[in-house]
Amino acid sequence: MARVYNFSAGPSMLPEAVLTKAAAEMLDYEGSGQSVMEMSHRSKVYQSIIDTAEALLREIMNIPDNYKVLFLQGGASSQFAMVPMNLMTGSGKADYIITGQWAKKAYKEAARYGNARAVASSEDKTFSYIPKVTKADLDPEADYVHICMNNTIYGTVYHELPDTGDVPLVADISSCVLSKPIDVSKFGILYAGAQKNMAPSGVTVVIIREDLIGKAMDITPTMFNYQTHADNGSMFNTPPCYTIYVMKLVLEWIKNEIGGLEAMQAINEKKAAMLYDFLDNSKLFKGTVVPEDRSLMNVPFVTGNEELDAKFVKESTAAGFVNLKGHRSVGGMRASIYNAMPVEGVEKLIAFMQKFEEENT
Ligand SMILES: *Cc1c(COP(=O)(O)O)cnc(C)c1O
Repeated sequence: MARVYNFSAGPSMLPEAVLTKAAAEMLDYEGSGQSVMEMSHRSKVYQSIIDTAEALLREIMNIPDNYKVLFLQGGASSQFAMVPMNLMTGSGKADYIITGQWAKKAYKEAARYGNARAVASSEDKTFSYIPKVTKADLDPEADYVHICMNNTIYGTVYHELPDTGDVPLVADISSCVLSKPIDVSKFGILYAGAQKNMAPSGVTVVIIREDLIGKAMDITPTMFNYQTHADNGSMFNTPPCYTIYVMKLVLEWIKNEIGGLEAMQAINEKKAAMLYDFLDNSKLFKGTVVPEDRSLMNVPFVTGNEELDAKFVKESTAAGFVNLKGHRSVGGMRASIYNAMPVEGVEKLIAFMQKFEEENT
């Protein structure tokens, strides 16, 4: 069996140990005589799967007791509407920092429901940096401040959070969740689609401070009200059962095989440092992001020559390094090196890039 090194931005690689376990349990989950795909979500055996997934997530992320964990559907993109519908009900104002396409989509969606303000943007330089925002730039009356923590397309990340004072900070962490420890108590809401670092697509995790639940606009659809899901243990309707099960396996892998998020961070920092060091010393390739805002997860780079970029993508694909083509808005290449990408995958990619550089300079 030949497995490729998959550098896709999402859906992305899953740990091989997780796939192997899911395969072994496919026909008979722990003596139940059924696949998890076939189970009633109201059964005892499934309840124990979703309860374990939540307990592991709480343990691994150190989520305080006054936060609810919700397993929802509709992707991170649905949160772009759900956040304002549930939170923009005090002053009706919210501040958005525009660090890329996802942040912009969130802002545009919020503007449909209230007074959304774009506080700062890095679009002037193709979102290659995180704009500096101080407390004085923010509206103290806003119902929340929204950021996109790791910008999947552009490869930037917040290494330091903006100081929002008493205004709840809401963050899209789709592409950096579980990559390193995060202080949940600094946020009002964290949300993430699963398909980058947690599971296959299909579930969106929302971590919400309890006092922010129960304030939704009257027009909010029942399924878009956080209260509905908080009151029903994420089982108001059928949850994405199998995806939540795979997430449980991924969380078990992080806890038992990796050793938690500090250990995960050390591995991720090692992989990213190797790749950035190579880029900084290369005569052919260069990173597109300012060094101080570089992401641990998504590494965009270019040769400066579109034809060479295309040649590199073609030859790397043939060599078993797939999905390295950059997003159309940045061009060039992007290596997404999420949790499941082994160190060896990055080492081999660098060796391949080195060889390509020698042959093409
Ligand atoms: C992938 C991604 C999204 C979109 O997620 P969906 O689950 O497809 O809606 C939103 N935000 C960020 C940061 C992403 O990486």
